[in-house]
Amino acid sequence: MKSNAQAELPQRLRHFIDGEFVDSAHTFANVSPVDGRELSRVVEADAASVDAAVKAARRAQQGPWRSLSAPERAAWLHRIADGIEARFDDFVAAEVADTGRPVAQARSLDIARGIANFRTFADLVGTAHGEFFETSTADGQMLNYVTRKPLGVVGVISPWNLPLLLFTWKVAPALAMGNCVVAKPSEETPTSATLLAEVMRDIGLPRGVFNLIHGHGANAAGEWLTRHPGIDAITFTGESKTGSAIMKAVADGVKNVSFELGGKNAAVVFADADFDAAVQGVLRSSFTNAGQVCLCSERVYVERPIFDRFVAALKDKTQALVVGSPYEAGTTTGPMISKGHREKVLGYYELAVAEGATVVTGGGVPKFGNARDDGAFVQPTIWTGLPDDARCVTEEIFGPVCHIAPFDSEDEVVRRVNNSAYGLAASIWTTNLSRAHRVAPRIETGIVWVNAWFVRDLRTPFGGAKLSGFGREGGRHSMDFYSELTNVCVKVA
Ligand code: NAD
Repeated sequence: MKSNAQAELPQRLRHFIDGEFVDSAHTFANVSPVDGRELSRVVEADAASVDAAVKAARRAQQGPWRSLSAPERAAWLHRIADGIEARFDDFVAAEVADTGRPVAQARSLDIARGIANFRTFADLVGTAHGEFFETSTADGQMLNYVTRKPLGVVGVISPWNLPLLLFTWKVAPALAMGNCVVAKPSEETPTSATLLAEVMRDIGLPRGVFNLIHGHGANAAGEWLTRHPGIDAITFTGESKTGSAIMKAVADGVKNVSFELGGKNAAVVFADADFDAAVQGVLRSSFTNAGQVCLCSERVYVERPIFDRFVAALKDKTQALVVGSPYEAGTTTGPMISKGHREKVLGYYELAVAEGATVVTGGGVPKFGNARDDGAFVQPTIWTGLPDDARCVTEEIFGPVCHIAPFDSEDEVVRRVNNSAYGLAASIWTTNLSRAHRVAPRIETGIVWVNAWFVRDLRTPFGGAKLSGFGREGGRHSMDFYSELTNVCVKVA
């Protein structure tokens, strides 16, 4: 085990199929967003590799895995969590290398949550209780009870923004419910998933239960996985337009899908809020992970009496963020995931000006005078002055940026928050308890935080409305998605 965040990582990232690491002829480069250097070569799955992975999962699914008891599956999940813990620093190094995020964040959020995902679902499945109903009919007394069976083979497709966290958020409950898995991490962040496959091998997980394929999405590994007839369900996190493409791909097979998609989330700051807590909260909700969290607030609404003061305070704190190398103490903000994504974000920075925004701070690219100038950094940015229908206020940007607008009444702000194609998350800042309970249920999102942001209890339902997806995962909602329920109705008297 290496103890530093720049530990040596695999130079060739391979698929893990049927319990073995497998090569492919074609490879692509895994590039550092910090300085543009090549970190490793990643094998690109062809259709035959995807097919081999699905077949391995099907074979394993016919084997003993599906009939393990819940406590036995829970024990396997704890072993996986132990395996990640034993290589904690390697996982941190992988996540930092692939994403450029500060080491402290990878330690406290990404890898810690990856472990928690396995432990939480192990505990949930190990302690779950069933459902039963007594029913009186003219024919006599009936007892209904519900059994859970695995769905079969689940395809997991995940994005780059929180690589291990989001990958394991799907893999853990799928395995916990007795499924076998074929999983594809984002092509931008393949390393931590490869380390996870090493853990699966090292703990002796039965072959074929967990399979990993690397590659791209459209017309590549991702799409072939969604179209494969041997897959029983797809669970996907990523962009809304990719969700739409996957939905079309699975339609012919009428496969179960669970989608966690994009967002254009709002933060609402009432004049009665604890001012400092609200400024600090919005700083976090707009700029954590350089704005590359699906839950980040890109729309901020502030009640008019405190608007100017709030903008000035958030500006000061934003200018104090330290954009730079993940390995330097004090860095708060890493790069965009890639130069391609940086171009997209910078495109919005230009568009905002064309749409008439006042740039309060940022709006460009930081200059370092060293190798980081070849990275994918942008300046944390705040705008004001845009109309609600501006593209920069309606479209997901997925960068370190927010637009702040004033509002005058509760009804008005609820209407403006809900006037969005997305419905993932919102946060409300107020000290008025009645207002908090009145407003929160009126917001059309899957989660509303009050005086908080990004707090996740893994037992609660998580997901989005509208373009942000459908279905909920977390706690028993994950257990429901990853299993097939059968109601058994027995005449007992
Ligand atoms: P993306 O949709 O581009 O890619 C996600 C994954 O899908 C990748 O593994 C990619 O290879 C694969 N993919 C792409 N096209 C595909 C296709 N046609 N068929 C099958 N697979 C395909 O998303 P991204 O850029 O990696 O991630 C950022 C997006 O994810 C943002 O929109 C963000 O809001 C969203 N996100 C949502 C949540 C949530 O919980 N709602 C969480 C994190 C990220």
